[in-house]
Amino acid sequence: MRAVTVAPGTANSLELIEDYPEPAAEEGSILVESLAIGVCGTDHEIISGEYGEAPPGERRLVLGHESLGRVLEDPTGTLQPGDLVAGIVRHPDPVPCPNCAAGEWDMCRNGRYTEHGIKALPGFARERWRIQPPYAVPLDRALGQVGMLLEPTSIVAKAWDHIERIGQRAVWQPKIVLVTGAGPIGLLAALLAAQRGFSVHVLDLATSGPKPELVHALGATYHSVPVHDLDFEPDVVLECTGAPTVVLEVMCKAAPNGIVCLAGVSSGGRTIDFDAGALNRSLVLENNVVFGSVNANRRHWELAADALRRADPLWLNSLISRRVPVSGYADAYTSGPDDIKVVLEFAV
Ligand code: BGC
Repeated sequence: MRAVTVAPGTANSLELIEDYPEPAAEEGSILVESLAIGVCGTDHEIISGEYGEAPPGERRLVLGHESLGRVLEDPTGTLQPGDLVAGIVRHPDPVPCPNCAAGEWDMCRNGRYTEHGIKALPGFARERWRIQPPYAVPLDRALGQVGMLLEPTSIVAKAWDHIERIGQRAVWQPKIVLVTGAGPIGLLAALLAAQRGFSVHVLDLATSGPKPELVHALGATYHSVPVHDLDFEPDVVLECTGAPTVVLEVMCKAAPNGIVCLAGVSSGGRTIDFDAGALNRSLVLENNVVFGSVNANRRHWELAADALRRADPLWLNSLISRRVPVSGYADAYTSGPDDIKVVLEFAV
């Protein structure tokens, strides 16, 4: 069967293998036919050789962690043939650490977790894959076109879950939410903010292309100005750019008692001149919280499935900029200027 693979650590080693082996029985009792895979920044980092790890004893890694598939067989009866399903990305470490032992693999303490298509587990960019029932998330049939958005939505569902838990430290009545970055993660974070009834603001560099309209369609306000020019102080910030200046500026911009969730990953290696003392002073004197958030556990995947079910299907569909058949796989991994989410299609 066909599988999209890379040799982690080697730049530009992307290759479609035509005779990749069928998934081994040990991978899980549920056999799934791949329908589509979403492509994200992490895939680009893996392709450039900066990130990613092949399974033990192998040289190549099958890509793909944003999955959508159709169940072919499930002898456990958990799912029925024909059901739509997505595979959870991260699996607990083998120790397991206290968090992984409690099903909180997103909070793994020792870094020995594995991730499909990223770290030591084959990804879902192959014609068929297997998964164990606890890692298979069923999807509403109405999400047949956009179900590969479940994985990025699980990331923002976790971010919101943690924001809300942190908010419970005192009386908390947030009203204004700022999302920085209008890529897929930022737009989905804004969707979940809009579903919560907040006044939502999204900031991005783009002044043309689809982003402003996608933001307006959520009933949110689009800004394309520097953070310090915004004329409001957000109660909640979801930082989804990873751009160092934006990261620092939003920390300074948050309202008293404000919560800043960092969900964008910076590349590192650049230094900027910054008054760290002034930042510390404003964080302490305003009881601000800044925290990082990565990955998601099963509870977040289920919250995400619910959020997608309640969203406007046309809006979700308009996040997909291009659908590329697997035969043209290289195009799917080449970014276009107005791309939001590119999808690699295996079957329809
Ligand atoms: C994925 C997460 C993963 C993270 C770090 C992201 O692109 O969405 O599931 O934990 O990369 O590997």
